[in-house]
Amino acid sequence: MPDVRSVLAAATRQLGERADAELLLLHVVQQPRSWLFTHADDMLDTDVQTAYSALIERRAAGEPVAYIAGRRGFWSLDLEVTPATLIPRPETELLVELALQRLPPDASGSVVDLGTGSGAIALAIACERPRLQVIATDASVEALEVARRNAQRHAIGNVRFAHGDWLTPLGAQRVAMIVSNPPYIEATDPHLRQGDLRFEPASALASGADGLDDIRRIVRDARAHLQPGGWLLFEHGWNQGEAARALLAEAGYAEVFTAQDLERRDRVSGACLAP
Ligand code: GLN
Repeated sequence: MPDVRSVLAAATRQLGERADAELLLLHVVQQPRSWLFTHADDMLDTDVQTAYSALIERRAAGEPVAYIAGRRGFWSLDLEVTPATLIPRPETELLVELALQRLPPDASGSVVDLGTGSGAIALAIACERPRLQVIATDASVEALEVARRNAQRHAIGNVRFAHGDWLTPLGAQRVAMIVSNPPYIEATDPHLRQGDLRFEPASALASGADGLDDIRRIVRDARAHLQPGGWLLFEHGWNQGEAARALLAEAGYAEVFTAQDLERRDRVSGACLAP
């Protein structure tokens, strides 16, 4: 019977990288990462090996490791993800940081996360600002079910979920902040047919010829749902900062800005409704 070390080495060779091989083994044995260091010489029984080989085959065929394991870490949260939801990206934590900078620790009132997917942004804000009411919307019922389970799993009570397109579920309500990681990839971008993106919901990735269709709609509609002084913050592509700022300025928002992610690429733009 092979030991953990040699099984991992073989899987790493097959995938061409170690991180995914480790993550999938930990998923099969349901252990934390530290287990790898303390159990490298353990023998793996046949059931575990068979289950692990099946997952490695799926990964080798291109399926994202987050969908295979059904989990992805975001902010301080371990989140369930399914093919109905986008896989949360580390760069989206910038949007959470910028939102929190504008929400004092004792902030009350409401914040909306548009197109919440797995609930990543809404839940990160809700758990950092327990006095806020967070409203998470999505056009996908399946995604909302995943987001709801993530809220339950982390016992986050100050978030409610609403089904519908962008701001529609809000009715006439005005809120203190609107955040979103909308789809923003150009519909003809060849990356959509490559790598992990092939497995993610197209509706969460692509948005018209220039990738800005949904951002245009959000910028236009958000004004009617913000309180005076309220902020709109959204993620976008590295090459869309200028266009995003132009849309915000044309729509009459104040304090228009773009922030860069850790790789110094334009990633989030925002502005506020003049008080
Ligand atoms: N950041 C993602 C990517 O480029 C896209 C996510 C999105 O469109 N919101 O893979």
